[in-house]
Amino acid sequence: KKIIIAIDGFSSTGKSTVAKQLAKTLGYIYVDTGAMYRSVTLYAMRNKIIDQTHFDVDRLINSLPDIHIKFEVNQTTRLAEVLLNEENVEKEIRNLSVSRHVSQVAAISEVRKKLVEQQQLMGRDKGVVMDGRDIGTVVFPDAELKLFMTATAKDRAERRYKELIKRGDQVTYEDVLKNVVNRDHIDSTRKDSPLKKAEGAIEIDNSNLTLEDQFNQILTLSRS
Ligand code: C5P
Repeated sequence: KKIIIAIDGFSSTGKSTVAKQLAKTLGYIYVDTGAMYRSVTLYAMRNKIIDQTHFDVDRLINSLPDIHIKFEVNQTTRLAEVLLNEENVEKEIRNLSVSRHVSQVAAISEVRKKLVEQQQLMGRDKGVVMDGRDIGTVVFPDAELKLFMTATAKDRAERRYKELIKRGDQVTYEDVLKNVVNRDHIDSTRKDSPLKKAEGAIEIDNSNLTLEDQFNQILTLSRS
């Protein structure tokens, strides 16, 4: 029987790595909800709705009907990539500049409402692994398996820093650490759907687990 697996947690705790592996092994669809919030943020940045000094919240809310987000499977990697108004923005949304604004955008109730509805539709036939911040609390409070991933800020920043350097981005470890800590703060203190461990969620601290051990532990849970 197909189930819904909800994975929440702080930034860069390895949620997407586990989610992708699980989806592949179980033959499920993987939905990266962070990519959706990042795509809305990219739209806002490109249209000068948000920058370092100002954020025109009303304009973003009015623009929501013009923002269309979809996923498309890359035939080579078999992984879903995000499309913003039909343009593949999978790489661009991972830039640190997008990370700097995304939590502010994600704090807007109207933005959350639109994306949560879309996420619920994507999971209506079950057989999905969805990762984010509010999947077990808001999007699918009845998910059969809920995980809450944690790791130290240092481990998380190191992981994100390595990823960005590998892509050729010019960033410093300190910038990445600052961003991770800052997003966690905004995500867990916002009024609408703050990041927290969902009722019934299993907490996984992956600071001291190998990826393989962690994955096997979760796979067993998903089959029980
Ligand atoms: O998962 P990722 O780090 O890519 O998410 C980027 C940001 O999007 C988070 O820091 C958070 O502000 C927001 N987000 C959210 N709710 C989700 C997924 C992401 O608020 N379900």
